[in-house]
Amino acid sequence: MIAGSGLHLETISIIYLNAAYSFKSQLDINQYFQTIDVTREVVKKQDWVIEQIVASKEALELKKSPAISAGSRCYQPYPCDFRGHCWKNLNYPIVEIPGLSLHRKLDFIDRGIVDITEIPYPELTKTDIKVIEAHKSGNEFIDKEKIRSILGGDSQPDFYLKFMVMRLALPAFEGMKPYEPLIFGFSLLRTTGETESYLTPPGSYPGNYISEILQRMKDEDQRGFYFGDDTVEQALARMFPDEAESHFLTNISGIFSGVHYYNPSQTSIDNIDLIVESIGLIQARTGVISDVMTGVNYLKADPEIQVHDFEAIKKSAAISTESLKLIVEYLIQKIRN
Ligand code: SF4
Repeated sequence: MIAGSGLHLETISIIYLNAAYSFKSQLDINQYFQTIDVTREVVKKQDWVIEQIVASKEALELKKSPAISAGSRCYQPYPCDFRGHCWKNLNYPIVEIPGLSLHRKLDFIDRGIVDITEIPYPELTKTDIKVIEAHKSGNEFIDKEKIRSILGGDSQPDFYLKFMVMRLALPAFEGMKPYEPLIFGFSLLRTTGETESYLTPPGSYPGNYISEILQRMKDEDQRGFYFGDDTVEQALARMFPDEAESHFLTNISGIFSGVHYYNPSQTSIDNIDLIVESIGLIQARTGVISDVMTGVNYLKADPEIQVHDFEAIKKSAAISTESLKLIVEYLIQKIRN
């Protein structure tokens, strides 16, 4: 297109972040970005681009939206910004089933299967079947043995943790890589009811501050549960390389992502606050801040805003530790019966 406007381009390149770049005392822009020459590939696609321009212009001149149904195209190659509009009035009950993967739901929708009663069983995995059966019967599914093995028995730990994690595109500390997950704080709820919160003082390296606190707890032979995704696990693995063997901290999120517990009322399998609220263990609470916004609020530069936001961040994390304790108590009760 640019060449068609009369501007001569010698090369066309894509510049992207070098995931392997490790920050030293100063940013090395030549190492931070990688450049790849794609001139040949772009030239080869010129005919295709012209066809797309013609088709796009035709679509723009239509009086009504094209008669194309919503489905996997709305997520590939990336989620479309118009989903809020196009999906608003669609009656696709299958979308509301958190236990089925997005990929599987979209595959069904593309084939016109939008309701749970239409789902063809032979295509389902064992995990999918547990989910569908729970929805059809209205009964929760519970694999007591598996849950017992993840919890390490049927007793409570010493404490529950909610980690606060950030991923910076531009590394700020020596040795950090772009988007490397870094735990900058956590909230702790003891089984006895006491709460504590820790946030790295701004400007300090969170890895040192947080790991020293956790190390003290580990040395006291305490045991804790947390609920976290891969980013939390990655950040912890760097702090405690031998953690997998020590049983100091146990991630219980696999109970839900692996569908070892599933309640048809659940609205999520990866958000502990939504899980406990949707299955009725506690009423919906306000003041919960998403993990992404927790990191954004922590990084705000204004010290006055920080003081206010730090309190909100701590409160939000404390809510999640409460959720964790509630669900663990509930599961322990179930596996004991
Ligand atoms: S959400 Fe986007 S891709 Fe899906 S139907 Fe609407 S405009 Fe098309």
